Amino acid sequence: MLELRPNCECCDKDLPPDSSDAMICTFECTFCRTCATTVLAGVCPNCSGNLVARPVRPAALLNKYPAATERVVKPGGCPSL
Ligand SMILES: [Zn+2]
Ligand SMILES: [Zn+2]
Repeated sequence: MLELRPNCECCDKDLPPDSSDAMICTFECTFCRTCATTVLAGVCPNCSGNLVARPVRPAALLNKYPAATERVVKPGGCPSL
């Protein structure tokens, strides 16, 4: 199951589970669409994998399968920011 992390690792922007702005890599490194498409150019800075839009979890399932609450932020932000 996806963790659905609550924020962008680069700019710490909030990315709620229903956000269409969240992008993830295969390890679920999570970024906002702005960081993913501009400074990162679609490539995860942690693992060099590609970033894709994170699927939205239907609200009715969030009680049973809650999103992660622990914020992950890259130390020092993303290099090109
Ligand atoms: Zn961001
Ligand atoms: Zn990654």
